[in-house]
Amino acid sequence: MKDSSTAVSQVSLLKQKLNSAKLALEEIHKDRNEKLRTLIQFLGHLSLACKGQNLELDNRLAKLRHHLQGYDQIDEALPELVEIERLLKGQYNHTMTQLEESRTSLSRVISQIQRVDSAPEEIKKEINYFKKDLNKPIHTIWEYIPKVEQVIGFYEHILQKQFAGTDEHVILPQHLILAKELAQKISEIEFRKEQRDQILVMKEVLMGDIKLNTLLESYQTILSLLLNNIAREKTASQDFLYALNDAISVVRDVVSNTANNNERSQQIKSQLNKEINLRVDNADGILIESDDLNALKTALTIQLSSLKDALSRKEALENREQTLLRKSIESMRKELTSITKEANSYKEKLFEHQKLNLLDPLTQLPNRTALEDRMEQEFRNHKRFNAPLWVAVTDIDYFKSVNDNFGHSTGDKTLQVIAMALKNSLRESEFVARYGGEEFVLLLPEVNEDNIGLLLNRVREKIKNIPFKFKNQRITVTLSIGAAQVMENERIEETFERADAALYKAKHNGRDRVVIDI
Ligand code: GH3
Ligand code: MG
Ligand code: MG
Repeated sequence: MKDSSTAVSQVSLLKQKLNSAKLALEEIHKDRNEKLRTLIQFLGHLSLACKGQNLELDNRLAKLRHHLQGYDQIDEALPELVEIERLLKGQYNHTMTQLEESRTSLSRVISQIQRVDSAPEEIKKEINYFKKDLNKPIHTIWEYIPKVEQVIGFYEHILQKQFAGTDEHVILPQHLILAKELAQKISEIEFRKEQRDQILVMKEVLMGDIKLNTLLESYQTILSLLLNNIAREKTASQDFLYALNDAISVVRDVVSNTANNNERSQQIKSQLNKEINLRVDNADGILIESDDLNALKTALTIQLSSLKDALSRKEALENREQTLLRKSIESMRKELTSITKEANSYKEKLFEHQKLNLLDPLTQLPNRTALEDRMEQEFRNHKRFNAPLWVAVTDIDYFKSVNDNFGHSTGDKTLQVIAMALKNSLRESEFVARYGGEEFVLLLPEVNEDNIGLLLNRVREKIKNIPFKFKNQRITVTLSIGAAQVMENERIEETFERADAALYKAKHNGRDRVVIDI
C-alpha cells in the first residue's frame, strides 16, 4: 500500500515537473519566435537598404523578403540565403574596387589642378594637404562624396579668380585720355532737358577713375541718346512735311473744284445769254412786224416773261457761284491759317535748335561754331570799313589743379563764373566764345593799338580779383592772354594763330599776363 501511494505521489511529482518543463519549453519557444521575428524583420529592412546596387541582388532580396513573410517558408529561404551571400560578397568586392578606382581618378584630377599656375597660394596649399590625405584608402561611398565636393570647390575657386581677371580689362593711359575727351565732347553737345542729369553724372564718372567697361558703356549710352535725338528731330520735320502736304492737297482740290464749277457755269451762262439775246431779238422783230397793238402786247408779254425767267435763272446761277467761291476761299483760308501756325512752331523749334547748337551748354557762351560765324562777320566788317579788329585767345592758368584739388564739378562752376565775368567785362560790340576746355576767344573790333593792352589787362585783373572760395580756402584764378590784330592781306585764321602763339608766350613767360603780337 505504502509503495503504491509512494508511486502515485512520484508520478504526480513527475507530472508536475513535466508540466513545468512543458511551460518552460513553451516559454523558450515563444522567446525564440520573438527573436526570430525581430531577426526576420531586421533582415527585411537590411535587404531593402541593399537595394539599388545590382539587379540580380535586388531580385533575390525581393524573393527573400517574400519567403520571410511566413515562418513556414523559412526553409525554402535557406538556399536563397546562400545565393544572396555569394552575391553580397561579389558586390562588396566590386564596390571596394570602384572606390579605389575613384580615389585614383581623384588623385589624377588633383594633379591636374596643381598644374594651374594662376591658382591662389592658399588654394595651392589646401590642394597639397588634400592630395596627401587622398593616399589613405577610402572605405565607403560616404567618405568619397565629400572629397569630390572638395575638388569641385577647388575648381570653383580657381575659375572665379580667372573670370574676375578677364572681366576687368586693364585700363591704359590712352583709355583715360579717351574718357576725358568724351567728357569734353559731351559738354559741347546740347542734350535735351530730361537727358542732362544723366549726362552730368556720366561726365563725373568719365573724369574720375574709370573702368574700361564703364567707358564702353558710356560710349554706347551717348550714342543711343544722340540717335534718339536725331530720330526726334526727324519726326518733327516729317510731321511738318505731312501737314504741309495735307494742306497743299486740300488747296489743290479746292482750286480744281472751283475751276470745274467755273467751266460749267460759263457754259450755262453763255446758253442763258444766247436765250436772253434771242428774246430781245424776238421782241425787236415783233415790234417791227406787228401793226396790231393787242397782238403786239400779247407777243411782247410772252417774250418779256421768258426774258425775265432767263434773267432770274442767270442771277440764281451767279448767286450759287458766289456762294461756292466764298466757301472755297473760306476753306483755303482755314487751311492756310493752320499751316502757317504749324510752320511758325516748326520755325521756332528750328531756331531754338540752331540757337542751342551755337551755345556752349556749360557756360552759355557762344561756342566754337558760333565763333567761326562771328569771325567771318567781323572780318567782313573790318574789310568794308577798314576798322581795326583784334583776336585774343585766353586760357585759364593751372586749371587742372582746380579739378584735381577740388573736383570736377567745382571746376565746372569755376568755368561758369569766369565765362560770365568775361562776358560782362566786354562792350556790346565785342564778342567772347568758349573755344573749348578752359580756353576762350575774344573778338574786339574798333580798338586801337594803344588801348588793347589796357583793355585786356583790365579783363585779366577782373578775373584775378574774383573771390573764389573752395573748401573754405581762398583761391585766385588767373588767365594768360595772347592777342593779335588783323593785318593787311592776312586771313583772320592767321591772326588767330598769331594770337595763340602769343598766348603760348604768355604761359611760357610765367602766366597771369597779356602778350600782344606786334
Ligand atoms: P596751363 O596753365 O598750362 O594752361 O595749365 P592747365 O592745368 O590749365 O592746362 P592743361 O591743359 O594741362 O589742363 C586743362 C584742364 O582743363 C584739363 C581738363 O581736365 C580741364 N578741363 C577742360 N574742360 C573742362 C570742363 O569742361 N570742366 C572741367 N571741370 N575741367 C575742364
Ligand atoms: Mg590752362
Ligand atoms: Mg588749355
